Amino acid sequence: METKEEELFLCQLFGQDCRFVKFLNNTGRPVKLSSELKMVNNSNMRWTSSVTILPFSSYTWRFLGESSDSVVSCLLPDPYTIAFTNQYRWNVCYMDTDDTEPIFIGHKLKSIELQELKEIPPNGSRIVPLHTSSKEPASLKNLVLDYITRNKSCTEYEKLEIPDALKSKLTNLYSDYEELRTIIPTCPRCQEIHEL
Ligand SMILES: [Zn+2]
Repeated sequence: METKEEELFLCQLFGQDCRFVKFLNNTGRPVKLSSELKMVNNSNMRWTSSVTILPFSSYTWRFLGESSDSVVSCLLPDPYTIAFTNQYRWNVCYMDTDDTEPIFIGHKLKSIELQELKEIPPNGSRIVPLHTSSKEPASLKNLVLDYITRNKSCTEYEKLEIPDALKSKLTNLYSDYEELRTIIPTCPRCQEIHEL
């Protein structure tokens, strides 16, 4: 007798009443978005996770609804009710560690709490844009440095006729952007990236 083996996807455990928060990166530079869930009654209990978002791309943060009661919850996104009734905060910064300019996340600088987005109904979503602190585009210098680091190998940019100070800036940026070169495949079932 032949049994058909079905592939199990993590997203099959998500349920139908998730909540979604979509972050749009309008800063022009790659950013790192991290979350922290802290339990109100026990500040020792905290969970963090982070993702990178490319310029003019978005990332949708998923929260589980009440219908999901999986035993493997440590692998799944945070449950919405637990997140909303405790302290849930996102922080955002540039992946370029030399660029310490704060970034607007929604209407706040650097960080925002889930509670500030109002309660989200089951299957509902919110959009949170990310902007430079001046709300102006990133500087041409930074855009060019990003372009070189993301599109040229280190041996290629070492040959460029540019000042040494800029070369060392490129070396730093090359290591800051290391993880952008590791492409995490999207899930074949839902096309999301399950890295949370
Ligand atoms: Zn999936």
